[in-house]
Amino acid sequence: MSNNEHNDFMEVDSVSDKDKNPKENVEKIVAEAVDSDAEKKADIIDENGAKSEDKEEDYEQICYMCHRPEHIAGKMIKIPGDICICSDCMQRTFDAMNSTPFPMGDFPGVNLGTIPNISMINLSDLQGGVPKNQRLKKKKEKEKKEPAVLDIHSIPAPHKIKASLDEYVVGQEQAKKIMSGAVYNHYKRIMSDMTDGVEIEKSNMLMIGPTGCGKTYLVKTLAKLLDVPLAITDATSLTEAGYIGDDIESVVSKLLAAADNDVEKAEHGIIFIDEIDKIAKKKNTNQRDVSGESVQQGMLKLLEGAEVEVPVGASSKNAMVPMTTVDTKNILFICGGAFPGLEEIIKERLNKESSIGFRADLKDKYDKEENLLQKVTVEDVRNFGMIPEFIGRLPVLFSLEALTEEMLVRILVEPKNAIVKQYKKLLAMDEVLLEFDEDALKTIAKRAKEKKVGARALRAILEEFMIDIMYEIPKDDNIGKVTITESYLEKKGSPMIEMRGTV
Ligand code: ADP
Repeated sequence: MSNNEHNDFMEVDSVSDKDKNPKENVEKIVAEAVDSDAEKKADIIDENGAKSEDKEEDYEQICYMCHRPEHIAGKMIKIPGDICICSDCMQRTFDAMNSTPFPMGDFPGVNLGTIPNISMINLSDLQGGVPKNQRLKKKKEKEKKEPAVLDIHSIPAPHKIKASLDEYVVGQEQAKKIMSGAVYNHYKRIMSDMTDGVEIEKSNMLMIGPTGCGKTYLVKTLAKLLDVPLAITDATSLTEAGYIGDDIESVVSKLLAAADNDVEKAEHGIIFIDEIDKIAKKKNTNQRDVSGESVQQGMLKLLEGAEVEVPVGASSKNAMVPMTTVDTKNILFICGGAFPGLEEIIKERLNKESSIGFRADLKDKYDKEENLLQKVTVEDVRNFGMIPEFIGRLPVLFSLEALTEEMLVRILVEPKNAIVKQYKKLLAMDEVLLEFDEDALKTIAKRAKEKKVGARALRAILEEFMIDIMYEIPKDDNIGKVTITESYLEKKGSPMIEMRGTV
């Protein structure tokens, strides 16, 4: 064996030397690994021999043993054969060697170190060259974000929160007002000290409203304005721990990911659980209700405040993933759902109330009432199938109204990032002015209303005819202005086109 080859091998003798003080050795090896890394800045040659633009520092190493990348496991130690091992695994290996009853190189009666040609296996022989699968391309640093519109540390007053929401969300005045107040109290509660023994209760919310009326949009806007992390999850995917589906604590792990693994930031975040009505107690069932009542039970601790062990950088717990503890005490939980059938329950209660006593009214007085959801009470939600303990932990209960045609027209044009504004911006890049007739907007709103999916239908309807406009207009440089008319939408005519110079 040549001298060089000899160096590539980890000799049993040298390992037994290191055994004497494994901790010191690991530190020394880590320091060496850092030094050698700093020196190396070579370009990467890909399989075809072509030089790629990628730099060595764009990649991070993965531990050969536990497969964790460098940003989680810490600096790697390179051992001969371009194999990387994290300091945890290295330490564990040394510890294991130390604790074995027959220390390597010191078998009773046999000293392996003295037997010629016995050495540890060279792992690189098994691997074959530079281990490309042992590195991971690093994520690019995110651009610096704009500062938040509202600063939670100076706790914006409810009217300021509502004014900011108004710029994005059309209508839903009552909901915006209640929400702003609840958020204000929530962050005041976090900042408050408890020296006087008065603890302010959490203001978790339950919002009820038909599909597409802006529930998710309200929460998203709120989180964006406050610059707090937000995790959105669907209650239908949750099951009691141990069953197929996401277990309840996975929502906290989502929030941690949204906070870039910053536990402190996550603990001030918002969790939105959509379709909460789908975990209502099942009626007349003998089977175990693993996706209904049990999920509600399982969520109680989380809503109130519990220390939850969650995996970092992964969605499921397993032996290889490091864990951290997140306290949900200061996380704002907002639950939302359409609660189909709740109107009937409210109507029944109201009719019953009005038909008894001295002021008895007509029995069907509320049958034709619109926006019955605004009259919802805790009792109605309980009758729907939510358990009292669950509703008790969501003290702020409010509902959103179904969108009217008039509101849909406003949604098209008014919000800061309204769909019509987006199309206008796109055409403005071709130096073309885009206008919509008042009647055209009404027609779009009317069609959207018919689809019964709230504002969600608007984009699809607009997209349908804007494809042609966006395709045809850039063909002709002389066009200066396009006006979408009702007759164009009804396919009875073409859009009004005006040439440059006349606009
Ligand atoms: P849901 O109530 O079912 O959660 P969403 O909040 O997801 O509905 O609404 C779907 C989309 O419709 C949103 O992304 C938003 O663009 C639009 N939208 C709904 N309601 C409003 C509203 N009141 N104001 C402005 N846009 C809205």
